[in-house]
Amino acid sequence: EFKGEYEHSDILMEMLHQKFGLSSFRPQQREVINASLTQHDCFVLMPTGGGKSLCYQLPAVLMPGVTIVISPLRALISDQVDKLNALDISSAHLCADVSKQDSNQIYLKLSMKEPGIKLLYLTPEKITASRIIIETLNGLYKRGKLARFVIDEVHCLSQWGHDFRPDYKQLGMLRTNYPEVPIICLTATATKQVENDVINILHLRNVKRFIRSFNRPNIKYQVINKKGKATDDIANLIKSKFAKKSGIVYCLSRGDCDKLADDFIQLNIKAKPYHAGMNDKVREVIQREWMQDRFHVIVATIAFGMGIDKPDVRFVIHNSIPKSVEAFYQESGRGGRDGEISYSYLFYSYGDVTRLRKLMQMDRKQSKKTLEAHYENLKQMVSFAENLVDCRRYLQLIHLGEHFDRRICIANKATTCDNCENIDKYSTKDVTKEAKELCTIVKDLSGNENITMLHVVDVYKGAKVKKVLDRRHDKHSYYGAGASLNRNDVQRILKELLLKHILNDFCTYTGEFPVVYITTEPNTRKTEVVATAPRNSTGWIDNSG
Ligand code: ADP
Repeated sequence: EFKGEYEHSDILMEMLHQKFGLSSFRPQQREVINASLTQHDCFVLMPTGGGKSLCYQLPAVLMPGVTIVISPLRALISDQVDKLNALDISSAHLCADVSKQDSNQIYLKLSMKEPGIKLLYLTPEKITASRIIIETLNGLYKRGKLARFVIDEVHCLSQWGHDFRPDYKQLGMLRTNYPEVPIICLTATATKQVENDVINILHLRNVKRFIRSFNRPNIKYQVINKKGKATDDIANLIKSKFAKKSGIVYCLSRGDCDKLADDFIQLNIKAKPYHAGMNDKVREVIQREWMQDRFHVIVATIAFGMGIDKPDVRFVIHNSIPKSVEAFYQESGRGGRDGEISYSYLFYSYGDVTRLRKLMQMDRKQSKKTLEAHYENLKQMVSFAENLVDCRRYLQLIHLGEHFDRRICIANKATTCDNCENIDKYSTKDVTKEAKELCTIVKDLSGNENITMLHVVDVYKGAKVKKVLDRRHDKHSYYGAGASLNRNDVQRILKELLLKHILNDFCTYTGEFPVVYITTEPNTRKTEVVATAPRNSTGWIDNSG
């Protein structure tokens, strides 16, 4: 059995060309593959579309034995299995929709001396609850034919993740039952906390971490002030800049999709709606036609997207505000998968925020906590849209736990974001005094109880809200000291202090969602804090409308 380094060998390249039909590795793929081939446990955090699958598929083909892939979504599983079999890589899945006859065939192949399957896909509930699958794994293990485990969407394992699935917690048994078999963990969304959880629950050893920047250098971000319904503006944009080019226009509601697609057709743009109100057959046809470039513009609700992998999407337009910054990142990120430039336009008006809040309220199934978390996410998105100063990439990536340097955005001329393009319009202002005052507030108030960033903003602004008054925080000497500043700007100073580790934040799990609290860093240093403000102006930019 091969245990050496493939680092300098041509075997990987050959496999990439001949078996997968690809010309070169994407960032980090080769490194992950090497680590995997040398039997390391791996933790891979890569953006969606980054090419995580190849990281385990190539080693699976190269090495003897069967690779077990655990994935939560059946639709994605059958998609992957079809793709692999089309490449003549024998793979199978054992989801509920496999016939008795087919599954018997699969078990038979797996029991052979040289198993006739390289990759076996399972859902987490199957691997922990199905007796026959456990016996099959035991058999493979005893014969030394269990090559590795791959756990896709591994953030589902942590309560800190946004998509916790109890079945995933059981996967700790993999290491207990099959101690020598390496484990590869894949995700496109994980904080350090989630990562630690994953390592503990799965009992990973000497983990090799592969964290790739979530920046999408080939996407150009722009926020546009939306006037009225903006149908003509959007139509003109598509016609003048994206004739015969593929794109997605996201709308808030099903009705909006139908209406806008109709309007587009009137204006001579070939477009079709796509939303959850249409039956599966119709949606499938529309999706296929779009994938095959039979028409170019799909007008969709967020129901459209999961598992969509069209490489040449040249624009993603948000006709209305997305529900969170993460959602915006994911949705705009469906553009430019092929690496060519893609344009993201957010048509923003505050009226849409009110509409979205109403829609959120109408969902009666959710708890009060969930609703509050939705509002909080939306608030962050509003502050993204209203921010005319900070780099759009920085503002998105900070939500994914990544600290991004805007100079990268500025240097990449073809896709510099709107705010970085306008950077000359702003000058810097020394806010050391404000920063010190904010630190004092945080220090004094976070001693005995947990406080959130928004609470600090309220105190500094002198807001007369119940939470502040009840806790008697209006008695603090800096209560109202920042009354003349705008809320966004106070938040920007606090975020800057967090980034510089002058302040700290931590997360606790209350109810269904984690809440982030703010504290002082024990080793606070003296620092000068500078932030941007409009040139030729004494105050800060006022973008609160
Ligand atoms: P992820 O799981 O990270 O979201 P996938 O593994 O599904 O991403 O890959 C996304 C797309 O990128 C797929 O169409 C895949 O074929 C393609 N891809 C992956 N690696 C490469 C590569 N080295 N060169 C070109 N295309 C690649």
